Amino acid sequence: MPINLTMHIFYAVIAFIFGSVIGSFLNVVILRTPLKQSIITEPSHCFSCGHRLAWYDMFPIFSWIFLRGRCRYCKAKISPRYMIIEAITAVAYCLAYLRFGLSLELAYSAVLFAVLIVLSGIDIDHFEIPYWCSITVAVLGISAIFVFPETPWHERLISAGIVIVLFGILVLVGGMGGGDLQLMAGASLLLGYKVFAALFIGIFFGAIYGAVKKLRDKKHEKEISEKIHELVNIWYKNQLDQNVGFVTEGHEDIIVGSISDGNPDIEWEFLEEKVWKGLPDKAALSRSLRDNISDEREGGFRIYIRGDEIKKVKYSRRMVFGPFLAVGIAAAWLVGIFIIAWYMSLFH
Ligand SMILES: [Zn+2]
Repeated sequence: MPINLTMHIFYAVIAFIFGSVIGSFLNVVILRTPLKQSIITEPSHCFSCGHRLAWYDMFPIFSWIFLRGRCRYCKAKISPRYMIIEAITAVAYCLAYLRFGLSLELAYSAVLFAVLIVLSGIDIDHFEIPYWCSITVAVLGISAIFVFPETPWHERLISAGIVIVLFGILVLVGGMGGGDLQLMAGASLLLGYKVFAALFIGIFFGAIYGAVKKLRDKKHEKEISEKIHELVNIWYKNQLDQNVGFVTEGHEDIIVGSISDGNPDIEWEFLEEKVWKGLPDKAALSRSLRDNISDEREGGFRIYIRGDEIKKVKYSRRMVFGPFLAVGIAAAWLVGIFIIAWYMSLFH
């Protein structure tokens, strides 16, 4: 059914407005689901003064702009991120309409983009891609086998297989989380070979961000690892003095741990027990770290022990990959076939 330009613009505007409304709902999902709070019962209120918000205070995008990013009642600053998420959702829905028109692809886009935006927000806040987000993408992928048979099922499965192997390696080497793997496995089912365009875009921009972040965090990471080194030295000397639990002469072990919102967590199950004489006082080390590095938000550390000395401590801040993968998936979903076609043309 051909539609004229006026109708086309009209629908694009509707898609934008609809997206902005969905976006303001996604803000609530990002904020509340990780805390297991209800996303519907509690009315919206200002975080600062607690004033109930009227409908005109919650008008997506525009309320924030007209109020110049402040609460109408107490003038407290409101983070621009709510407005940014609304704007991103609005633009994404608008682009989806312009690309696919009124179609099943558009309906898929609406669900896919909502999930990608939510998982990006939660990954940024909590360094975790929720399981249900990856599952939703996978369900879209599995249903797409029947809804969009022009991408054959074996292409989807082959892509998923390759992506799982590839990401499995990246997870083992470090830097990628299991959540990234689950997300990309689900995306492979949805995208077929286009998932490789998503991978390329995601890893390319993720790597640039990672390099910049590494430079920026270098000094800080060194400070934290020195601090951990100091604390572990004291603890380990105690272990040796009291003859409780230490690595036997000539052997090595690594204590692996992470910090999450100021809470250090040591993964004791990784200890190679046969090289330890006796049991180390686990609680004492956990306590010492907890009491002294509680202002660090997210990172991972490794403590290398050889015989009676702490050889070195490595600490690195964690980085999020979810948002980059999400951008890659969205781009591949929208224009992946053009990217693949362009890439293939390089070889003809
Ligand atoms: Zn207020």
